[in-house]
Amino acid sequence: MNILVLNCGSSSLKYQIINMDTKDVICKGLVERIGIEGSKLTHKVPGKDNYVIEEAMPTHKRAVELVMAAITDADHGVISSVDEIDAIGHRVLHGGQKFTKSIVVNEDVKAAIRECFDLGPLHNPANLMGIEACELAMPGKPNVAVFDTSFGMGMEPKAFRYAIPLEYLNKYSVRRYGFHGTSHDYVSHRAIEIAGLDPKTAKVLVCHLGNGASISASIGGVCVDTSMGLTPLEGLIMGTRSGDVDPAIIQYICNKEGKTVNEVLDILNKKSGVYGMTNGISSDFRDIEIAAENGNKDAEIALEAFRYRVAKYCGAYIAAMNGVDCICFTAGVGENDKVTRKIVCEQYLGYLGVKIDDERNNVRGQEKLISADDSTVKVYLLPTNEELKIAMDTEELVKG
Ligand code: AMP
Repeated sequence: MNILVLNCGSSSLKYQIINMDTKDVICKGLVERIGIEGSKLTHKVPGKDNYVIEEAMPTHKRAVELVMAAITDADHGVISSVDEIDAIGHRVLHGGQKFTKSIVVNEDVKAAIRECFDLGPLHNPANLMGIEACELAMPGKPNVAVFDTSFGMGMEPKAFRYAIPLEYLNKYSVRRYGFHGTSHDYVSHRAIEIAGLDPKTAKVLVCHLGNGASISASIGGVCVDTSMGLTPLEGLIMGTRSGDVDPAIIQYICNKEGKTVNEVLDILNKKSGVYGMTNGISSDFRDIEIAAENGNKDAEIALEAFRYRVAKYCGAYIAAMNGVDCICFTAGVGENDKVTRKIVCEQYLGYLGVKIDDERNNVRGQEKLISADDSTVKVYLLPTNEELKIAMDTEELVKG
């Protein structure tokens, strides 16, 4: 079965075709600048030169048509006709309170995605445009919506409720949802599999540390808690997002600088995190590490604060689960930065008997046990694969 996986942003579109029999990615690509001058599609087939289409793509519909043209192109394509695609899996950012798992798209599902535009104003409209473009380009093919918020819907009220007036939950669905759900779901289940844990009782921590960063705790694959909230702003220190702050800071800065709430929120989302803490050195952790090595004090503090916040969440979530069987690191920083893994596990969680094997930990981007044999908790590096998880959910739903 071939699944087309689509991740539509407001002006971009990423795609992959995954052969579910082999789990191979047979092609992938990126469309940039949809609706903006200079639209470009880059199509990649393993072992071949990239194929680039540069022509006007005013709408997502046109972008999807050109993706269809690229994948079926006589020289650069991977299939002879779109009939060889069995279904399309779409990443959808926000499913609100309605969706606790992935679902085959119908008119009701589209209406519900539309109802969540206020909760995911940048992503949900683009996600819906992607779905509608596929309906037009491939009539009759099943489309499946895979929500970034589904995994977090496993949380109990004590974890998802904010201590604010109940009316805001009832009127506007203000609660914690969590994001990166597809990644947390994939990695936690993969951990259970490779660590040979009991799928019903396994207590797993997943540290998804990338440009956006979040942590989840799950028992038996069900989310107990996760660090992002109503929006992805809550929780860890990230590339440009502040993570947790005292909300009164917003009013204070508004008053001091004559800014609006929206302007300050924009700063907390786009100009904060390690970028803001270092006065704009970079949002890329590699640059922050280099600056710290070169003696920049703010870069050193930003890295320390990032790791400290990760460890604090781990400690809190181990308490939330009353134990932990397995800790997993994933995403850009989690998969590449052995120092962060070592510090989080030993400097802060060492009291639990968590021990890293330095030789095993000297690894990047591959599935690997990195804890020592006498560690009380297994620690893994587990590369995330959100596209594969979207394809797996899609396959399961269309097979029925
Ligand atoms: P992601 O959002 O998962 O794509 O992660 C991207 C982030 O991973 C980049 O912004 C980098 O900060 C970080 N990253 C990638 N490689 C390394 C590395 N070798 N050491 C530290 N951070 C890294």
